[in-house]
Amino acid sequence: MAVVRIENVVKHYGLVEAVRGVSLNCADGEMMALLGPSGCGKTTMLKMLAGIEDVTSGEIYFDDEPIADRDPSARNIAMVFEDYALYPRLSVEQNIAFPLKVRHMPKREIKPRVDKALDMLDLQQFRRDNVQRLSGGAQQRVSIGRALVRDPSLILFDEPLSHLDGDQKVQLRVEIKRLQHEMGLTSILVTHDQTEAIAMCNRVAVLNEGELQQVDTAEVVYDYPANLFVATFVGEPPMNLLPAELRQERDGLVAAGEGWRVAIADRQATRARQATNRADVILGIRPEHLDLVPLAGEGANGDDLRGTVFFREPRGDSQIVLITSEAVPGEGNVVTETDSASSLRDDEAVALRIQPEHVHLFDPATGENLFARGS
Ligand code: ATP
Repeated sequence: MAVVRIENVVKHYGLVEAVRGVSLNCADGEMMALLGPSGCGKTTMLKMLAGIEDVTSGEIYFDDEPIADRDPSARNIAMVFEDYALYPRLSVEQNIAFPLKVRHMPKREIKPRVDKALDMLDLQQFRRDNVQRLSGGAQQRVSIGRALVRDPSLILFDEPLSHLDGDQKVQLRVEIKRLQHEMGLTSILVTHDQTEAIAMCNRVAVLNEGELQQVDTAEVVYDYPANLFVATFVGEPPMNLLPAELRQERDGLVAAGEGWRVAIADRQATRARQATNRADVILGIRPEHLDLVPLAGEGANGDDLRGTVFFREPRGDSQIVLITSEAVPGEGNVVTETDSASSLRDDEAVALRIQPEHVHLFDPATGENLFARGS
């Protein structure tokens, strides 16, 4: 399989800047997700890799060879599409054999390759069936077989699970990951679904408005989002954002909002001070890092954020609780995730404590995370 290197690639469609200077490497045998909202440029990236669209500027290399001048057919790339793109009149085995037939491979070489693909994808019992008689999941397995049979340098998956329902989606996600891992396939997955990207890929490249925002493992992207866009796009429910003021108090640096405050750990305070001398910041805290504290007795103190329960959503062993609070400007909502056993009533007054070790601080002007990893 190939190593893919994308260097400062730009794509304009007339006045539309679909991709703006993206640089990205995909290692041999790696599965990389291109994740982002509709219109962020993921499909355009895929089309430039496949040779369906030219790059406006920049360069794409496979194994250090520039591919701009290579025809799509000479790039040895296979694609798996969201709508399977199978030949409806052909059987399962005819569909899988098709790319080899059009390359005039001798029949005796085609048969063992097709057999291997049918075995790997557990499709032997359907080999003579017309593809239209299969379930969506099985049809997508056929299209994966058709991609693998060519022994491609790179496989591009374009939202491959979006037409499947719950169970089939989960099953095929596992299947694609297993094949990709066992066969060491260099693969790029385009998706707007973060669960898919996280479950299937070694690394995730987050795009917004044609620009690469961050590329790293799913864990790093979640724990150290590079900016406000990544912080709110990755994670469900999204990270809470609270306007805050940074101020130096007797016991150290503190972030404070309307009626709440949290101490910033010394190490992070140093980073924040190196990154900006602004006083106004945006504090980010994930729902699972906001603790509900009892209002009575030894519970809540003057630093906690106060509000009332507005909505609860059970999620198995946890529940998502939406709290309205005058301490939060704008919509006035903050979300916490808590144990399903906590008994809460609608309109109940609550106090929330921010876990200081999980605080993120963002520059409101640039959106950059002031604690960016490695800074
Ligand atoms: P989606 O998930 O909705 O497919 P995407 O992230 O794949 O979105 P692209 O399809 O790559 O995004 O589109 C990026 C931008 O380029 C969008 O603003 C889109 O409208 C524009 N665009 C895409 N293809 C063309 C085209 N052929 N001509 C003009 N503009 C285009």
